[in-house]
Amino acid sequence: MLPSPPLDSLHPVPAEPRIAATCKRQAVPSTCDAQPAELRIAGFTPLTTVDYPGELAAVVFCHGCPWQCRYCHNAHLLADEDLAPIAWADIRAFLEQRRGLLDGVVFSGGEPTVQGDLATAMAEVKALGFKVGLHTGGPAPERLARLLPWLDWVGLDIKALPEDYPAITGVAGSGERAWASLHQLLAAGVALEVRTTLMPGWRFAEELRPLMDRLADAGVTRYALQALRAATARDPAIATAGDITPPAAAIDCGATRFADFIVRGV
Ligand code: SF4
Repeated sequence: MLPSPPLDSLHPVPAEPRIAATCKRQAVPSTCDAQPAELRIAGFTPLTTVDYPGELAAVVFCHGCPWQCRYCHNAHLLADEDLAPIAWADIRAFLEQRRGLLDGVVFSGGEPTVQGDLATAMAEVKALGFKVGLHTGGPAPERLARLLPWLDWVGLDIKALPEDYPAITGVAGSGERAWASLHQLLAAGVALEVRTTLMPGWRFAEELRPLMDRLADAGVTRYALQALRAATARDPAIATAGDITPPAAAIDCGATRFADFIVRGV
């Protein structure tokens, strides 16, 4: 069992500052009786002020991801041999003692939406009175659709234009799936932050402006450009390239095109 409370953080990824946003509640289905037996959890942070904008939240780090992004710094959350699983029942017991003290619970990763029974865990979080947040890269739009009734807020990584995804994720068709997830979230009206991490070699006119224009034209209003933290990247070629921060032209463009624009990690 996890100690409770306080519960030690098992998540080693450093937090970054985020800016508050208003979260919108969705219609909530009735409680699901099934147990989320297939939820594979690799880490848990009992309290964060930066992973769910404007809310005090706990973060559940799900294990595994179908992509292999070159700049991923969560390799410890992806490999089966590195998994030291945490039982959902232990986290739920902790959350029961945090009612009235926490605002929300964020499911992060890894990639939460490929988990077998994420919806049941989200239903239980709702039943305890917490808001539900989700960090996702959007690799499974059909699964994301089933989660929509539970979601109060989503942080969605849009890594590039669809055609440029395979060079980052190593997976053909990944861009089309991520953008389908984006359009699904926009259509559903879920409170949303879209994030992009800078890649080595990107230029403003060739890669960044077309991406930002397409996101703004699609209806994205809250957008974050994230500096690349090279030292923790899984690809050695990126790890030795040095950190990459947004060019001034991209910052000007973001401030012009998005109502809520954030530069993160600089
Ligand atoms: S989608 Fe996220 S967790 Fe998965 S490999 Fe890419 S950066 Fe890592």
